[in-house]
Amino acid sequence: MEGERENYRLEIVRMFRRLDEEGLNYGRSGNISVRIKGEAERYFITPSGVPKATLKEEDILLIDREGNIVEGERNPSIEVKLHVSIYRRYPHFNAIIHAHPIYSLAFAATRKSIPVFLEEMVYYTGGDVRVAEYAPSGSPELAENVVRALEDRSAVLLANHGVITCGPSLEEAYDVLVCVERAAKIYFLSTLVGGLTTLPQETLELEREIYKLKLEGW
Ligand SMILES: [Zn+2]
Repeated sequence: MEGERENYRLEIVRMFRRLDEEGLNYGRSGNISVRIKGEAERYFITPSGVPKATLKEEDILLIDREGNIVEGERNPSIEVKLHVSIYRRYPHFNAIIHAHPIYSLAFAATRKSIPVFLEEMVYYTGGDVRVAEYAPSGSPELAENVVRALEDRSAVLLANHGVITCGPSLEEAYDVLVCVERAAKIYFLSTLVGGLTTLPQETLELEREIYKLKLEGW
């Protein structure tokens, strides 16, 4: 069990380095958590106010279902309520990434959802990427707004702020983040080419079934 826990810590540290290298996050922004299922459910979560690309394994905190610290010296991410609320509402998610990638933030800044115009989007995100109504960082209102906007989806935009992606594993939450940022970028390029189209309803429904099967573990 102890070895498994250390793997989670290392996985989170490595993920933030990867996000930084790939331009998906920068500086002190962003946070990541991973659910540890068991008798007493716990979560690993990143601390606040630390440059994320230089995180160390010992910086990662262990928290309980209420967001109280079980292990760790630092303060947990300001968005701890948001993470815990997502896990409570959506039992199929075991990892959450919050980051600030550029193209996705162009949508977040204008409070416009990313329409579903690529087949791959449905598989990863469940459909269009909605914008959770604005509320200040760390507030219970933001947690409520995000949980609501995430219904039947794996990704959501935070108005004027960032993006949240979720998955059954951290690697899958990362894939969702990459998909959202790629879609946002492709959207802008498609607009330059002209005549952007959305997916036919039939395809959307078929892809939605595949998305649901994926979350149920096939
Ligand atoms: Zn943020």
